[in-house]
Amino acid sequence: MKDSFGRKIDYLRVSVTDRCNLRCIYCMPETGISHIAHSAILRLEEIQQLVQLIHRALNLRKIRITGGEPLVRRGIVSLVRGISPLAETVMTTNGILFPEFASDLSAAGLSRVNISIDSLKDEVIKKVTRRDVTLRMVEKAIEAAKESNLGPVKVNCVVLKGVNSEEPADMIKWAESMGTTIRFIEHMPMTGSECSYVPEKDVLYGITKELGPVKRIATEGTANMYSTLSGTRFGIIAPVGGGMCANCTRLRLTAEGELLPCLAGGESLDLRERLRSGSKDSEIITAVHALVAKKPHHGACGGVSMWRIGG
Ligand code: SAM
Ligand code: SF4
Repeated sequence: MKDSFGRKIDYLRVSVTDRCNLRCIYCMPETGISHIAHSAILRLEEIQQLVQLIHRALNLRKIRITGGEPLVRRGIVSLVRGISPLAETVMTTNGILFPEFASDLSAAGLSRVNISIDSLKDEVIKKVTRRDVTLRMVEKAIEAAKESNLGPVKVNCVVLKGVNSEEPADMIKWAESMGTTIRFIEHMPMTGSECSYVPEKDVLYGITKELGPVKRIATEGTANMYSTLSGTRFGIIAPVGGGMCANCTRLRLTAEGELLPCLAGGESLDLRERLRSGSKDSEIITAVHALVAKKPHHGACGGVSMWRIGG
């Protein structure tokens, strides 16, 4: 279905939990989060039922499982098994638990995985994640993904001023050596955290200083894709700088069952309440259509809690 701006809305991001084994400084407050009551979180059967209904409403092309950290949710493999027949099913993970899940996820129908890492330096990784995480742990996740046929792996890196903003050129070289493509994400101001946003043009400036001129080659989803002189591809996702909304084909289902058409706010749909109060399938499908028809186009994103909404 197309929204009022002509965008075909066929990509659903599903946050399966608000919980996480890390505490990234740009995502979660240092003190942790006050977890949502157990009863407020959708059960796995409810997630599957809602994804099926949204698929009936929109004929989804792609479903991304995210969180919080999706691999801390018990039963994640069976959820993937349940929804992967509907549409291409992919996952975003911090990679820490991934090696133990990779082959089961692949057998359950997962197609690909994106893995997040923000630095090549262990001391910076520990500072950003506030946990004892090393580069090698994330490299093992990338290797496990490749061995389980869950590639090509994309790596996500949030660029933070004064933390890792000098690293993009080195990270491009590292990502290529790992057989992956890296995408740098502009930090979105998060509820409860200070923004240390580095705009796309500054990320590009740092890269060209070290690797020479880069060429804009494509748009892939919401990423602006570039190529270095030696032909290495990398991407920049610029939700704050803007330009991303025109290509946004997403809806987000939160772990509490709220369907959001846009990160920057606007109307949402309480699907948990509808499901639990016994709404008919046809009523839920009609409500999804009405929400999509009103999907906003703000020009930029901001003021979000990614662990809640699902990045
Ligand atoms: N825990 C998983 C992970 O870290 O990959 C999945 C959930 S996380 C919310 C999804 C993506 O959102 C990650 O790549 C993360 O770096 C990114 N992210 C989180 N908070 C962000 C923020 N404030 N601005 C931009 N990206 C953010
Ligand atoms: Fe957890 Fe991912 Fe947020 Fe980091 S970015 S705190 S790994 S949900």
